[in-house]
Amino acid sequence: MSKLLEIIQNSDGDRLLVHFIGEMDGNADYSEISLVGVKYFEIDFSRISLINSTGVQSWVKFITDLPDHCELVLRKCSARIINQMNQFSGFLGNKKVRVESFFAPYYCESCDKGMDVLIKKEMMNKNDEVMQAPQSSCTQCGADLEFDSVASRYFSFIKRYGVLD
Ligand SMILES: [Zn+2]
Repeated sequence: MSKLLEIIQNSDGDRLLVHFIGEMDGNADYSEISLVGVKYFEIDFSRISLINSTGVQSWVKFITDLPDHCELVLRKCSARIINQMNQFSGFLGNKKVRVESFFAPYYCESCDKGMDVLIKKEMMNKNDEVMQAPQSSCTQCGADLEFDSVASRYFSFIKRYGVLD
């Protein structure tokens, strides 16, 4: 069986930073991640190229079984991951999770090009009644970007999971 999900682990004291690279499908194997003595467990999701429904199931099983002494922090969640969080309400397995940063789709009219912009949690006003997309400008031409999705839907994970609290 080919291994489609590569897991790179960097441990620093009681902090473990893990990069997931490739495809999260039903064959993804998280068993190599050792959480003994880990207090802060951080996952970088920027390099996930695919996540499918069996991948969601095995991910949810993994996260549900996380020991309680681990505080889970997600970084650079790709739009794929955010879409799964929005579509599938059990994506975080009822764990308390913080999202430090995530990507959101924007569009530059003058370049006629779509681009994913990294949004840091400080850029969101989580007290907004309806979540608004933060202002962003094009890295190529400097023009203001338009948000290229439905903000009330795309940012709904923030309130649903309380990930910025
Ligand atoms: Zn542009």
